[in-house]
Amino acid sequence: MGIGRVMSEREAHVTLLGPTEIRDLAELLGIVPTKKLGQNFVIDPNTVRRIVRTAGVRTGESVVEIGPGLGSLTLGLLEVGASVVAVEIDGRLAAQLPKTVQRLAPDSSLTVIHRDAMHVIELPSAPMRLVANLPYNVSVPVLLHFMEHFPTIVAGVVMVQAEVGNRIAAIPGSKVYGAPSVKAEWYGSWRTHGQVSRQIFWPVPNVDSVLVGFERRERPLGDEAERLATFTLIDAGFQQRRKMLRQSLQSVLGDTATASEIIEAAGVRPESRSEQLTVHDFLAIARIADRHTKIH
Ligand code: SAM
Repeated sequence: MGIGRVMSEREAHVTLLGPTEIRDLAELLGIVPTKKLGQNFVIDPNTVRRIVRTAGVRTGESVVEIGPGLGSLTLGLLEVGASVVAVEIDGRLAAQLPKTVQRLAPDSSLTVIHRDAMHVIELPSAPMRLVANLPYNVSVPVLLHFMEHFPTIVAGVVMVQAEVGNRIAAIPGSKVYGAPSVKAEWYGSWRTHGQVSRQIFWPVPNVDSVLVGFERRERPLGDEAERLATFTLIDAGFQQRRKMLRQSLQSVLGDTATASEIIEAAGVRPESRSEQLTVHDFLAIARIADRHTKIH
């Protein structure tokens, strides 16, 4: 039996959630979506299928989803035969999801973990992909947290606020290039995959969204100590992004003369600004700094 045949048989068994089902489910649970938890639920099956297609999820793959909510995207992932581990902070949603899936996608593989995703450092199975409509208030930290703690994640797609997505995928020199762009670059390559209308959510948010895809580097850029040192430099550098590096990195490298010496030895101009540096530049500075003295 070919893979295409397996998928179409499974598709026949999965029902995706539309606007009526989402509202009915929310009413059943007495859920009033909260801004605090970034609860904007997807009510459009076409968008769900677009996310799953963009992520390239295949039958049998292990996928981790952060914030499954009422299950819109979860069902889309199960529809193509993925094995899903979903991490949800809201107890009512976490308790309902297995029941929804039992009804609309029987025989599929789902594990729900009721926890704050920021505190999850192990999962029941090693995820290969991360696919999520991320809660907007914590999208960058939660994404970096999963990239750090789950090296088995080789690729994925997330839906985030357009401004955040453009920042994550920005290249050096661009106006929106910042600490999230460089930290994301540590883990791999990132690109946007088009806007998503705010109308496909309930409730409708007051910002547009964008899909962002990533692929992890085949080999890590450096070890954990080097990552921490590099991230410390990135934070310091972008706290004062208008200043020259020899000034903005003083807080971690020492006085201007020492900072200039270290930056120069790393092959970077001390007069440049953080927004012009790649992650490789920051790592090079971290490595030289490590030989001089510890980064503080
Ligand atoms: N995936 C669903 C969808 O597409 O309709 C819901 C997405 S909604 C934008 C974000 C979800 O993340 C909500 O269900 C919310 O309760 C959950 N959430 C918020 N903060 C979280 C956290 N720190 N850890 C895990 N889940 C979280």
